[in-house]
Amino acid sequence: MPDNRIRSIDVFSVKIPQEATYLGALGPGEAVNTRGYIVRRGNRTVYPVEMRSLVVRVTLESGLVGWGETYGLVAPKALHALIEDLIAPFVAGRTPYDVQAIWDDLYDLMRVRGYTGGFWLDAIAAVDIALWDLFGKLTGLPLNQLLGGRHHDRIPAYISGLPRKTLDERVALARSFVDQGFGAVKIAAVVTYGSLVQEIAALREALGPDVALMLDCHWMYSPADAIALIERLRPYDLRFIEAPCKTEDVAGLADIAAHSPIPVAAGEEWRTVYDARARLERRAVGIVQPEMGHTGVTQFMRMSQLAQAFHAQVIPHATIGAGIFAAASLHASATLTNLPWHEYQHSIFPHSASLMTGRLECEAGYFAIPEGPGLGVEPNERFWANATQLS
Ligand code: MG
Repeated sequence: MPDNRIRSIDVFSVKIPQEATYLGALGPGEAVNTRGYIVRRGNRTVYPVEMRSLVVRVTLESGLVGWGETYGLVAPKALHALIEDLIAPFVAGRTPYDVQAIWDDLYDLMRVRGYTGGFWLDAIAAVDIALWDLFGKLTGLPLNQLLGGRHHDRIPAYISGLPRKTLDERVALARSFVDQGFGAVKIAAVVTYGSLVQEIAALREALGPDVALMLDCHWMYSPADAIALIERLRPYDLRFIEAPCKTEDVAGLADIAAHSPIPVAAGEEWRTVYDARARLERRAVGIVQPEMGHTGVTQFMRMSQLAQAFHAQVIPHATIGAGIFAAASLHASATLTNLPWHEYQHSIFPHSASLMTGRLECEAGYFAIPEGPGLGVEPNERFWANATQLS
């Protein structure tokens, strides 16, 4: 009988190869600081110039390893400290079969100090994904089967972002994706040049009535301004409006949803089912967008199942990563009935996939489901050429 107790956790910062800066070239007044960070003026958010992610390797006494990942964009050493000092010693000696109990135990450790989100939950998410990967490897099952089985054999992908300078180039890029088989396109208000309404109108005109169009507002508007904007966009039949107001303004989000003829989407910054519950109870969202890198598998599923109980849809977020949380997100998404699309970051996903062995594909408008056991992906040589172990 192999020894399935957890022995150790190693943490790696990984560079994601990229062609261009995320969200496009630097805008007016945007500059790189001494630590390699830029602040996007549109949403006042910090991004590193070099795209990177944080990967964990959990090793059992038997030598079997599992892979997890969370956001490592900023201050990755903070995550390493939390994992090394707190998480690793508390999970040592337990087994991956306890993965959900381990999530609950880790969350409880820091609740009374107010650590119910942020870096602490990201660190837990990374380890949670690795434990689910190990659970799958120990049982020989792909993650989607561990979670109860598939409702999708492939997952519709929506195109996220049109990072081109001019309106004509943006429309042409959207057109090229539609020609490849993609049926949905989202633009980001934060990097729109000129009039947002003009851009949406041009896309609707060029793409016709059958392509779904969405708008990500990056938390930019007051509730009143968001409601006014939605009114101006009414003729263009948007499929959803994302993150229209500040994340902490739950009442404002509920106000927008009550006035909006199109569904309000939010959730990429949430960590737990409690974040989802606060919005779903107020009918502030019609679409929940869990981000696997923040939630781990355990909270992704609890959040998505709560959304289902509220008859809300789940359209998972996708972001900068090494391919590990992307694989976990596709497995988990495959188990949901209330899932019309998964976000596709066309400028990132192929680079993430290039760091992994296993099936990470998005073609002609659909993601493949990776094949297990566990996540069904493993770091390859290219990953190791871009990885640095944190110590
Ligand atoms: Mg977004």
